[in-house]
Order: sequence, then C-alpha cells, then structure tokens
Amino acid sequence: MAVLLQKPIDYLKGVGPNRAQLLKKELGIHTLQDLLYFFPNRYIDRSQHFTPSNVQNTNAEVQVVGSITHLETVKQQRGSRLVATFSDGQSHIELVWFRGHQWIQKSLQLHTPYVAFGRLSWFGKKCSIAHPELELMEDHEQRKGNFQPVYPSTEALLKSGITQRVMRQVMVHLFEEINAGIQEVLPPQLLKQYQLIGKTLALTTLHFPKSQEALSRAQYRMKFEELFFVQLQLGLKKIHRKQQLKGIPFEIVGAYFNDFFYKHLPFPLTEAQKRVVREIRADLKSEAQMNRLLQGDVGSGKTIVAVLCMLIALDNGMQATIVAPTEILAQQHFANISSLLNPLKINVGLLTGSVKKSVRTPLLEELANGKMHILIGTHAVFEQPVNFHKLGLAIIDEQHRFGVAQRAKLWRKNSVPPNVLVMTATPIPRTLAMTAYGDLDLSVIDELPPGRKPITTLHRFDSKRLAIFQFIKEEIAKGHQIYIVYPLIQESSVLDYKDLMDGYESIVREFPLPNFQVSIVHGKMNAEDKAYEMERFASGKTQIMVATTVIEVGVNIPNASVMIIESAERFGLSQLHQLRGRVGRGANKSYCILMTGNKLSPDAQTRIQTMVRTQDGFELAEVDLALRGPGDLMGTQQSGLIPFLIANLKKDGELLKTVRHAVDNILLHDINLMQQENTVLREALALTQQGKSIWKYIG
Ligand code: ADP
Ligand code: MG
Repeated sequence: MAVLLQKPIDYLKGVGPNRAQLLKKELGIHTLQDLLYFFPNRYIDRSQHFTPSNVQNTNAEVQVVGSITHLETVKQQRGSRLVATFSDGQSHIELVWFRGHQWIQKSLQLHTPYVAFGRLSWFGKKCSIAHPELELMEDHEQRKGNFQPVYPSTEALLKSGITQRVMRQVMVHLFEEINAGIQEVLPPQLLKQYQLIGKTLALTTLHFPKSQEALSRAQYRMKFEELFFVQLQLGLKKIHRKQQLKGIPFEIVGAYFNDFFYKHLPFPLTEAQKRVVREIRADLKSEAQMNRLLQGDVGSGKTIVAVLCMLIALDNGMQATIVAPTEILAQQHFANISSLLNPLKINVGLLTGSVKKSVRTPLLEELANGKMHILIGTHAVFEQPVNFHKLGLAIIDEQHRFGVAQRAKLWRKNSVPPNVLVMTATPIPRTLAMTAYGDLDLSVIDELPPGRKPITTLHRFDSKRLAIFQFIKEEIAKGHQIYIVYPLIQESSVLDYKDLMDGYESIVREFPLPNFQVSIVHGKMNAEDKAYEMERFASGKTQIMVATTVIEVGVNIPNASVMIIESAERFGLSQLHQLRGRVGRGANKSYCILMTGNKLSPDAQTRIQTMVRTQDGFELAEVDLALRGPGDLMGTQQSGLIPFLIANLKKDGELLKTVRHAVDNILLHDINLMQQENTVLREALALTQQGKSIWKYIG
C-alpha cells in the first residue's frame, strides 16, 4: 500500500504530465499520498437553491436552478463571449463564458433543468454568473452530500484550467485508484476509547462530505491523529534521551550550596521557588542528562534558582555557565551574582563580545584549567575558543531569544553533555509548550515573591502628554525612577531612531539639568557606553532612562516605579508584558503607562485593553496566541514547530490536552510500544522522521 501511495501523480487518471507539473510546482503535490492529504480549506453548503426569480442582490456564491432558453455568441472588442439565458419561466439571469465556447456550446442542453453554481455579478438590475459550474438537475439530485469541498488553489492553476471541479474529479480518480487501501494507524482500543471513526472513512469524508456532522467527525479524527503522532514522537524522544543520554549526575549537595542556602540567601524563597529547586535537584541527581525548561513570569525570581543550581554543580567539582541574550543583561547578572556569591570563595567571570583581549585571554585560560567556576556571558560563550575544564551545568536565560541550534552548541562544550536548564519568562500557553518544548521537562514558578504590589496599567493618548510629564515630576520628587521606552522595531529603521532622539530631546527640555538627569540607551551605542548609562541609572544618578527595547529582558532596577511605553500600539503583547515587568520590582507602587495615537487598529486595541485588564502572563499569552497564531508567536527558526495540515493549535488546545493524555497513558504502560495492540503505532512511526509533517510518511 505504502508503495502505491508513493507513486507520482503523473500516473493518475485525469492528471497527466502537464497538470502534474503544475500541481508539483504550485502546491508541492508529488505523490498520490500528497494528494490524499491535500485537504480542502473550506466547504460550501450546497443545500440551498435559488431561482432566477428570487436570487438576492449580493455577490455570494450560490446555486441557481433553471433552464437555458437561449444561447448566443456576442462579439467584443477582443474575441467574443458566450451568453446563455438561464430562466425559471418568470425571470432570467445570464450565464457567461469568455473562453471554451465551442466545447461548452456542444455540451449544453437547451430547455433542460440545470443547477448553476457560481458567484453573482450585478450590472444594475441585470444578474449574471461568469464561468458557472453546471450540473444537470437529474445528476444533482442523485449526488449525495450537500457539502462541497473547496481546495486551496493558485492563480496559475486556475489559468491552466485546474478548477475546483477538476480537483474534485482528480480526487474521485484518486480514491478509485487507492481503493480502500488506506491503513489504519491508530490502535483499535484508542479508536473506541475516544470514539474516533476509522481512517478510511475519515479521509473519504474530508474529500466527499455528506453532511456537516460527518465532516466534523472526520476532521476530529484526523486532527487527533496528527496531534497524536507529534506528541508520541516527542514523548518517545524524551524517554529515549533519558535512557540513553548519560549525563553528569550531581551526587552531592555540599558546602557551597549549604553555606549559601543557610547563611547568605538574601530573602526566604517562595514556595514555588523551593519546589522548583527540588525538581531540578532531583533531575540533576539522576544519571540522565537534564534538559529542563524553567518557566516563570517576569519578576518571579528565576535568577536565584539558577544560582542555587550552579552551586550544586560546583559542589560536584564542575563548572557552570549562564548565558543571556543581551550584553546589558549579562552585565547585570554578573554584578548581581558576583555580589551574591561574594561571601563564598567562588570565581565568577564575565565574557561578552566587548571584553578586551587583555582580559579575555587570562579568562579563557582559567576556564580551561578550571580556576574559573562560573562564567556569565552572552552568545560569545557559544563560540569555539571557549573551552571549559569540566562544564557540568549550562543555563540559558530568556531562552526565547535563542535558537535551538545555539542550545545544541552548549552540549558540545563538554565530552559528556552538560545538564541544561533553559529559563524563559515568555509565558508560552500550555498547549503550545506541549508541542514546542514537548521533549523538555517543565518546571514552573507560578508565584511572585511576597510584597509585590500590582502594577497599575493605564492607557493614555498622546494628547495627554503634559499630564504625564506632571506625573513623572511627582514620582521623581518621591525619589523614584522612570523608564521611557521607544519602539525600535527594526534596528536599522532610520525613522525609529529619529523618534527616539526627538523624544530624548523633548524629555531633556522638559526635565533640565541640574534638577534632573536623563540617561539614554539604544542598540547603536557601543557596549561600554551602554554599560556606563545603565550603571548611572541603576545607581540612582539619573532619574529617567530613555531607551529602546534593549532593556526589555531581565533588567532589574527595583527603584524604578514608572514604565512609559511610547507608541505602545506598535509593540506585541509579550513585549509589552516584558517591558511592564521592569517595574513593580521594589516596594514602590508602580505604574505602566501605554501611550498611543488616537487611531488604533482592532488588534492594537485588543492588545492595549488586555494589558490594562490583566497582569497574568499566561492569560496574556493566550490572547497573544489568539491574535497572532502559534507560528508567529514562537518565531519559526527556534520553535521547531511542525506545520500542521489540519490541526490548529490556536483552536484545538482542548483536543491537544486530550491527545497528550492518551499518549502519556500509552507510554506509561508500554514504553517501547512492544505490545501487540501498539504494533500499528510502531510501524507508523518507523515511516516517519522528525521535522516533517507526519503524513509525508504514514500511508
Ligand atoms: P526573573 O524571574 O524575571 O528573572 P529575577 O530573578 O530578576 O526575576 O527576580 C526579580 C526580583 O525579585 C529581584 O530583585 C530578586 O532579588 C527578587 N526576588 C526573587 N525571589 C525573591 C523572593 N523569594 N523574595 C523576595 N524577593 C525576591
Ligand atoms: Mg530574569
């Protein structure tokens, strides 16, 4: 069977070499199998019929019942058109063809009831349908099923005469050809448990639906299957990694950890932080390599968890590293972690792109000979000349800013792959996390440190700027600090820089020396200047920080109490949430003010309203998913997301949960899919390969 499905479409009746060429080029359909899984993107309800007397003055696609009473060829400037009078005895509409006259003329029967299907056009009171699909009433009545599939198409296909009608005909030939040879790939007890229809029926129904109900059941079944195999693969991958990939077990918790934990912890941990440390600790102890995602909303306190984990690595004679996506964040981690660990005898180093050679050379040496215990850095850490003596734990902060490939580079920094902890504040909706990070273990900090006051979020139009300036002055008078962030959607955008510099100048005018000090940080400044300005703001020497989104991730300055976001309508939800997370970190009551122009698109309006309404990162993520769709949310390069043919992560979140449950249940009882009933699964998987739609392989 599988062999038959791999046959090229050229060979199928109704296709032929020319059409085959087009279908390959335009739609990527090469084999019978590709065709089988080429699903309609919508269906037209053909249960409704009109007559020329009662068609409505719309441009809808409709079915009209009537007979052709007159046919004539009308000369035009170029060529001619064929016009049929289509009548129900009282009124008539026109059916029009601009090409293929001869053939059409020959095949049409006058004074015989037809059903014409097509889009209505109106010229005053005159109604016509161009290039209608015509079906004899007799045939129409015999044809079962009112739902007609509509396949995705392209201009080129239509121009070459590969119409919907042709596609449907090709599908008929396809099903004749493969003739009930579709193999079931889900075990019978699973079909029963989840009330899924068989695969043959499901596929047949998708291409030839008889009713909306049948169609829904077919869609459900195929979505289930698609999600099921993705989850099954991820589940198996995780299990096998644990069985095979021997990691570095951290057997003891020793002096470093205990000393710090009992004597130098700057605050008591939240229950969530404690739980997460325990989860990671258990994972580190095991033989298998750790690959864990630590998810926690902005400000939930991931850094201290990272520090504790690194101390466990040190206790076991290993080195640890933490990699951050921006230089500013790396520097901040370095300052923060160095001071936290100051009482312990630990060497902490900083490596970024701008570290000078005179500092870098001895640093690399100490890393290689093991004198340096902890390395904090940016992408530079991934690079070739960076060699560790014994890297036991690699932590990636703000994981969403890195690619999968970069994570893999860290694996190679030690002969045995180090344990890996990736941290993210991007609250990925759970449905998406299940798919995108399905092969990672997940720990979640779902609690903020105590004493955090909710951040008041306000939306203000640009016209209210003077009131905002007044508010800033009051806050500064209380000794608080202010961020003002400008959009810099593209690093290279000249206009964005102009906005930023104009904004900066107007702030400096409004908040003049010597009473006020204003800092500025943006991507075009060199690292040293950036660090200098950040330091001035962090130490309270300046009261206002004008910045671009370079401060979006991770920056922690607890005395800042106001975040003003200019042109907030231009930011995405997760960015807005990240930016807002820069305030509300200290004891002060904090504010986030979203400045926008007067005209907002519906999506922008939703984003702003959502920000004002909630501070819950997971809720925001769900809205974001609904607005943008999963591919975009994850960023394609790093998501590793498989393009789904029929399932839709945006809409099928509930189903995904059900499927995940089904997969877990199967793997719980039969890790290697060795039981008789799971043979079909093993066989189906043998045909698949990660990273491609599962149906490229399963026949
Ligand atoms: P994020 O999860 O966004 O990386 P951080 O680790 O930067 O958060 O922590 C945010 C702030 O909260 C820091 O100032 C940190 O010192 C503080 N913090 C973290 N955990 C606690 C806690 N358990 N109690 C009080 N403050 C905490
Ligand atoms: Mg952080």
